[in-house]
Amino acid sequence: MRNNTASQAFGRDSSRQYREPSPRQSTPFVRVAPTRYSPLPNSRTVSPKGRPVWIALQAAMLSVGVALVGLLLFWPAAGIALMWNLIIPVAPALVTIAPGLWRNICPMATFHMLPQKLGIAQNRRMPEWGAAALGLIGMTLLFVVVPMRRIGLNVDGTLTAVMLLSAAVVAFVMGSLFEMRSGWCTSLCPIHPVERLYGTKPAITFKNARCDLCEGCSNPCPDSTPELTPTVTGATKVQQFLGNFLVGSFPGFVWGWYQVRDYAPDQVGTQAIITAYVWPLGACIVSYVIFKVGEHIFRHKDGARAILHRAFAAAAISTYYWYRLPGPASLLPDWFPLASHMVTTPFFLWFLVLRSPKRSWLKRPVMASTYWSNRFETTAKKNLIHVGATR
Ligand code: SF4
Repeated sequence: MRNNTASQAFGRDSSRQYREPSPRQSTPFVRVAPTRYSPLPNSRTVSPKGRPVWIALQAAMLSVGVALVGLLLFWPAAGIALMWNLIIPVAPALVTIAPGLWRNICPMATFHMLPQKLGIAQNRRMPEWGAAALGLIGMTLLFVVVPMRRIGLNVDGTLTAVMLLSAAVVAFVMGSLFEMRSGWCTSLCPIHPVERLYGTKPAITFKNARCDLCEGCSNPCPDSTPELTPTVTGATKVQQFLGNFLVGSFPGFVWGWYQVRDYAPDQVGTQAIITAYVWPLGACIVSYVIFKVGEHIFRHKDGARAILHRAFAAAAISTYYWYRLPGPASLLPDWFPLASHMVTTPFFLWFLVLRSPKRSWLKRPVMASTYWSNRFETTAKKNLIHVGATR
């Protein structure tokens, strides 16, 4: 259905498709027959030449995801090494430096958008309260699943595979029900809050390889908003609290998580579960209290408060790599951990706090229509569409 407004949006020759409205039709509506959407070379979505490249990258990442689940199920040692020692350690740096690249190729997003591509999505509008509820669930999942790594996921391939498959099914179902990316990528995905936290100052903005036309599925759209932070969020109090809490609590959460060791399946009991959750959640509350004190001190200084927010984001990712980068220490020279600490912490401090580019992750595609998302309706013949007049 999105295809049908393309000729309007680009002013293309659509004389064959356009039909004059009859006098009986209400004037705000125009009837447009289907046409094939092909973006102009300089449009804000990917060009016809770039499209096959992005599709190939998305297919490659989807194949990696499928292979990863296969490894986790049938060769767990290799699957766990690939998942927790390669993909996940690279992800924070990627979503910090080039979040748009990740958003364009994430295999879970490809699953989520599959119903759109297959033409079976119901395209229901996500209500504001729905986005807030899904955001709350997504963030709760983040704080529940990460400690679970210590008591199962880090060593149990089957459990990790089940988690990934469950997420893929939910992403697909949400993509079948809701408009564009509103059911998963911009709301329910548990990784999305981390993208918002670390992806504040991307080094590069990509064209949007997911949305041909913007249907305004999410407001604000995390992909298209320059200088997005967790606190640039919806109007509900829940969303505003979640954004603020994430910024303040995450450095402590990451630090606390590293204070717990991995438990083998036969060691997991009540004590292990309590330890796995008390350290990160306790530290995240301490971190949030410190953050709120800082916010109170700078309550009259917006600029200083913004720096405080970015400093907490830099502290979270620096803490992650402080503990993570030495990796298989026995294979590395003695000086490597110190060198990695000396490089990563100043780098993220500079990248997130001292730089000041106002970029978005992706360029917003041409708007389908001001009222596209909540005004469209298919006629009985299903080949004509009523599109609300663009203001
Ligand atoms: S660009 Fe538009 S359609 Fe795509 S995710 Fe953002 S708001 Fe939704």
